[in-house]
Amino acid sequence: DALANKIAAGEVVERPASVVKELVENSIDAGATVIEVDLVEAGLESIRIIDNGSGIQEDDVLTAFSRHATSKIVDERDLFRIKSLGFRGEALPSIASVSHLTIRTSTGDAAGTLLKLEGGIVKQHDKTTSRRGTDIHVENLFFNTPARLKYVKTIHTELGTITDVMNRLALSHPEISFRVRHGERTLLQTNGQGDVRHVLASIYGLNVAKMMRYVEGSSLDFQVKGFVALPEICRASRNYVSTIVNGRYVKNSMINRAIQDGFHTLLPIGRYPIAHLHIEMDPSLVDVNVHPSKMEVRLSKEQELFAIISQSVKDVFRQETL
Ligand code: ADP
Ligand code: MG
Repeated sequence: DALANKIAAGEVVERPASVVKELVENSIDAGATVIEVDLVEAGLESIRIIDNGSGIQEDDVLTAFSRHATSKIVDERDLFRIKSLGFRGEALPSIASVSHLTIRTSTGDAAGTLLKLEGGIVKQHDKTTSRRGTDIHVENLFFNTPARLKYVKTIHTELGTITDVMNRLALSHPEISFRVRHGERTLLQTNGQGDVRHVLASIYGLNVAKMMRYVEGSSLDFQVKGFVALPEICRASRNYVSTIVNGRYVKNSMINRAIQDGFHTLLPIGRYPIAHLHIEMDPSLVDVNVHPSKMEVRLSKEQELFAIISQSVKDVFRQETL
């Protein structure tokens, strides 16, 4: 129902960046290898996302826009071994309820589907020709929720947040080719060849990428891999640490502290590292169902993980000074 969707939208869709994040995560879950994002006015006027993923079958398109419809969880136990980025089945109905949304989607082996919604109400439902994949166009975001619109910051700030989200998704998925454009300007372009160093170079530039060192560590429960920059190119903000747990970008203060601890006294006070870590663990050790944005996670065996991260960073600098 329309009201419930609009309420859920308040939690899932805070700003243009959350729309971009949810839609791109859907493309990733659909197995896309190429994802293109086009923005106008930092997404407030238009967000268009085209992927070459699985597409949605004709029979399932309407269902995908109803609440708690997810194709990713079949039974309750799945909640404890979540591998896909989405699982709540809230994003599409929420986004549709606060925008004008057009989707063209095809599995490639039958006619595609075109669906147009305004404020969550279906205005057009047709067959269409299209190649395998999904093309979602979100326009006039928050047109019917003026309070939410007021809360949105300047174009500059919103664009910064979208760039952050996209950088992190690109770092988590070096095997996917991403292209992000704002009007005529390309904000990010990655080659999808699977090399994190390449993605780091497209985000931070070649000079910073050259100053990044490989870190690695593991225990029975955890595997940690990634890159940290040498302390001389540290930053004045915590924003340059990105952590990926089981393929999902997360925020976790313990992980940040562990990285910081690894730098020990090498970082001046008030300076933070540039770092990018992939952490793999048994899905049963992570609880991602903490917040609708799925960004916060609860981790088990935190001390063990802290020690591995901190030690693996220390090892890098021991080698550097040898
Ligand atoms: P969730 O991702 O939590 O399952 P969403 O509301 O984001 O819920 O999406 C609903 C369903 O629509 C998904 O489970 C998936 O089956 C389908 N879907 C959404 N976006 C895409 C896409 N880009 N490609 C293929 N299927 C998609
Ligand atoms: Mg989703």
